[in-house]
Amino acid sequence: MDDVRKQLFYEQKNGYDLISRDDHLASEDYCRGYMAFLNDSRTEREAVINAVALAKENGFAEFKPGMELKPGMKLYQVNRGKAMMLAVIGKKSLEEGAVIAGAHIDSPRLDLKQLPLYETDELCYFRTHYYGGIKKYQWVTIPLEVHGVVALKSGETVDVRLGREPGDPRFVITDLLPHLAQEQMKKTMSEGITGEGLHIIIGSVPYADEGKDRVRLAVMSVLNDLYGITEEDFLSAELTAVPAFDVCEIGLDRSMIGGYGHDDRVCAYAELKAILDVKDPARTCVCILADKEETGSDGVSGMQSQAFDTFMADLCAAQGVELRRCYEKSFCLSADVTAAFDPLYPEVSEKRSEAKLNYGMGICKFTGARGKSGTSDASAEVVGYLRRVFEKAGVLWQMAELGKVDQGGGGTIAKFMANRNIDTIDAGVPVLSMHAPFELVAKLDCFMTYKGILAVYSDQE
Ligand code: MN
Ligand code: MN
Repeated sequence: MDDVRKQLFYEQKNGYDLISRDDHLASEDYCRGYMAFLNDSRTEREAVINAVALAKENGFAEFKPGMELKPGMKLYQVNRGKAMMLAVIGKKSLEEGAVIAGAHIDSPRLDLKQLPLYETDELCYFRTHYYGGIKKYQWVTIPLEVHGVVALKSGETVDVRLGREPGDPRFVITDLLPHLAQEQMKKTMSEGITGEGLHIIIGSVPYADEGKDRVRLAVMSVLNDLYGITEEDFLSAELTAVPAFDVCEIGLDRSMIGGYGHDDRVCAYAELKAILDVKDPARTCVCILADKEETGSDGVSGMQSQAFDTFMADLCAAQGVELRRCYEKSFCLSADVTAAFDPLYPEVSEKRSEAKLNYGMGICKFTGARGKSGTSDASAEVVGYLRRVFEKAGVLWQMAELGKVDQGGGGTIAKFMANRNIDTIDAGVPVLSMHAPFELVAKLDCFMTYKGILAVYSDQE
């Protein structure tokens, strides 16, 4: 009787009942690398800098249009310091298509406004405009760092990184004490803290003179000492406040990783590591680190930008292949995090269809909301292909869906890849507390996502 059940039913198993000893050890190693990468990559720009360094260490060279391509060549191209593409040239022509993995390296955060600085009641603040979908109440009373660049009129760019190094000062947004919060506590969670109210306190000591706005002047004079900037330079700055928490292991068993920006640097690192590790691929492998996913993938550095098409067209031109011919035979893993089932909030989930922590890489056939609206919906054949590849490579994976029907939904870069006539499917690491200042993932799932992407890159079909 049980044999029939075993044969006919699909039962999912906890990854720890399936993972080999070798994979378990490799997973610890892998996660150490990821934690270091994440801890030091607080913005998309920093993620690009760190990815370029890793790529160079692993023999990648900057791609220049017109280059002659040879199998095994390792190339990268940076798009405006905020996005990046890497490729390992395959033995087959691009006429046979490329194997692409695309993840995003931007994360929800608090961008400073273009005129952020003001003083009130002898305290100095930065005004912010939040970026991406956040629950605003989560961003008050946590330590913040300020990262980014200031583009000066001279054409020079100044890098800002305040609060990351031990001993650096940090910043914070205050909240009302419970004693005086009677009225605030009656509001809904989306109204209790407003977007316009997210002001970061940055100083309190007045400048030693008798004029106006003495604290603001004192703050400006510190910034001038540190970076040589004046208040006008904020006009052409891209500064952002991000959580100042260090990435760390979570749980007595150290099985999880807590940190800011898992969405989607956890998948970005997985595909980056996979393209660094892939050996002599049959088809050309491409890794995309995209920007602006959290605001809809628009803009020059987002996945809707033609920067990607230009890069691919340049590769194709080197082999005398038409881009559209390459696209129609290509395959893309849109590597993005998915929501993990949270036992504390079971009401939003249909448990059997939701990804679970420690069950491996999550595959989303479709995303979207209200009747799958806005999804590219991968074909059954594409899912079938992945089942085959993952089984061969020993990848632990699970099917995933974002919440109950009509509960909500989300999007990724998948549809922008599929719209290019590339077979595309979403796949990535299940996350708890997604978009919070401190998100949670399981080590096993991180490693299996890397292993899954490497399996697709290495596939010889
Ligand atoms: Mn994402
Ligand atoms: Mn997101």
